[in-house]
Amino acid sequence: MTSVLLLGGTAEARALAELLVTDGLDVTSSLAGRVTDPRLPVGDVRIGGFGGIEGLRAELADYAAVVDATHPFARNISANAVAACAAAGVPLLRLERPGWAARSGDLWHWVDCHEDAAGTAARLGRRPFLTVGRQEIHRFIPALYDHAVLARVVQAPQTPLPQTWRLLMSRGPYALPEELRLMRDHHTDVLVTKDSGGEHTWPKMAAAESMGVPVVVVRRPARAQGVPTVHDITEAAVWVRDLAGASG
Ligand code: NAP
Repeated sequence: MTSVLLLGGTAEARALAELLVTDGLDVTSSLAGRVTDPRLPVGDVRIGGFGGIEGLRAELADYAAVVDATHPFARNISANAVAACAAAGVPLLRLERPGWAARSGDLWHWVDCHEDAAGTAARLGRRPFLTVGRQEIHRFIPALYDHAVLARVVQAPQTPLPQTWRLLMSRGPYALPEELRLMRDHHTDVLVTKDSGGEHTWPKMAAAESMGVPVVVVRRPARAQGVPTVHDITEAAVWVRDLAGASG
């Protein structure tokens, strides 16, 4: 049976694991272990870093293929997967949800890094809604120290936050009415997000649009060239099935 290592931590990775396990494939999902109570995919699961490129390469002896379905902003693990798979001669597929494309009339401000996002948000509003994740939150403190920030995270950050900030711990997905209520209650005047793409986190963008609130969008980091890439789980499942057919 073809064993597939699925680098996960995303909704797409969980959905793909379900498809492949239903197909009778032997799938091991890998999670970084960032949150204490992660949503677990079906199939086998391993949790924690591999120990860099070398550690991942050594682990690949047990697998016939790797699907990197990590978040578009998880740059290190994706780069490690490219290097480790090349070294081990194991086929690698990248599953990446498409980024968001601004429509004409959208009040979107694209920036290249979180520090620029913080500066832009400080210029655009007094009551930012930050949805950039716990790991990046400290990068917003200098520029937004005195702002009435609402910061939504899955798990509390280790950095102490300014007194003017409100921390909201919750896990999506969120529907449009909830996002509208939250942003209206907070009187959000600027939304800050990564270009996560996909539909799971889209309702906050729709809420901002309907409220006329500007959005600061952090561009995705550059990725390695030359890795076969698909944008939905059906295409990814076809790639794995073809490989399983070829090797079985
Ligand atoms: P990262 O910066 O690319 O990775 C840092 C290190 O964490 C990697 O070098 C690796 O450690 C370990 N790691 C990351 N993902 C892993 C995985 N799926 N399985 C095993 N080890 C993993 O990643 P990150 O941005 O911290 O994201 C961590 C995880 O959260 C990813 O799985 C990602 O899909 C998920 N996530 C990230 C974001 C985000 O905005 N960054 C949002 C939602 C979900 P070693 O070098 O020791 O192998």
